[in-house]
Amino acid sequence: MVNAEIGVIGGSGFYSFLEDVSEVQVETPYGPPSDSLYVGELAGRSVAFLPRHGRSHTVPPHRINYRANLWALRSVGVRQVLGPCAVGGLRAEYGPGTLLVPDQLVDRTQSRVQTYFDGVPLPDGSVPNVVHPTFADPYCPVGRSVAVAAARGRDWEPVDGGTMVVVEGPRFSTRAESRWYASAGWSVIGMTGHPEAVLARELGLCYTSMALVTDLDAGAETGEGVSHTEVLRVFGENVGRLREVLFDAVAALPPTATRDCLCTHALDGWDLGIELP
Ligand SMILES: [Zn+2]
Repeated sequence: MVNAEIGVIGGSGFYSFLEDVSEVQVETPYGPPSDSLYVGELAGRSVAFLPRHGRSHTVPPHRINYRANLWALRSVGVRQVLGPCAVGGLRAEYGPGTLLVPDQLVDRTQSRVQTYFDGVPLPDGSVPNVVHPTFADPYCPVGRSVAVAAARGRDWEPVDGGTMVVVEGPRFSTRAESRWYASAGWSVIGMTGHPEAVLARELGLCYTSMALVTDLDAGAETGEGVSHTEVLRVFGENVGRLREVLFDAVAALPPTATRDCLCTHALDGWDLGIELP
């Protein structure tokens, strides 16, 4: 029986994490996750890595099976998740290479299932009840402070806090949309940070987003607009140090048994109707 305590979900340009890994295929009531889980050891911690778009980047943001991904991680024992992702900067000062650890998100997605508690029976016949988890603070406060400290430890001063707006994609924003998001005071824009965060919360998982800015979004730059080639180029330049920061963050996350953050209490008092894995 494979067991892991920490999950890392890698985004665009980030398709592997550890070298010596066991590939584990996990079935879920929601179908298959984006890929196998790749489980390995790091600093005495057991880590499951999942490439969010599949190892060959075949799954676009709006078709990712977010429910299967988080369920699969929890089913092997994961209780804390680090979610690095590529984002666009909405302010000129958040240029390529900026690392931002958001403390808020805005959901502008349109077509994604963002709950496990929808009354639809699972294959085992159990029926999830209606549940309204607290989501005022969508990210784990402990995971956030660990991520910020890990970046500082690698001489990469991160932006500590900020709002990630998550859009449906797969297209990039128009200039008008981008200027609107920026004028609302939001910091960065991505396509995958939601419903990943809320589904983690619904499973009682600690979830920490680590947003690497690969470009200035259309409203914050004056050139040709964002291209995917440029996103991958900048991500590639930074993926090495992002991996090092993640290594340090994994090592510094608290042991599962000692967690007492708000994420662990998200489901207190609710009758779920289903067994979480
Ligand atoms: Zn937490």
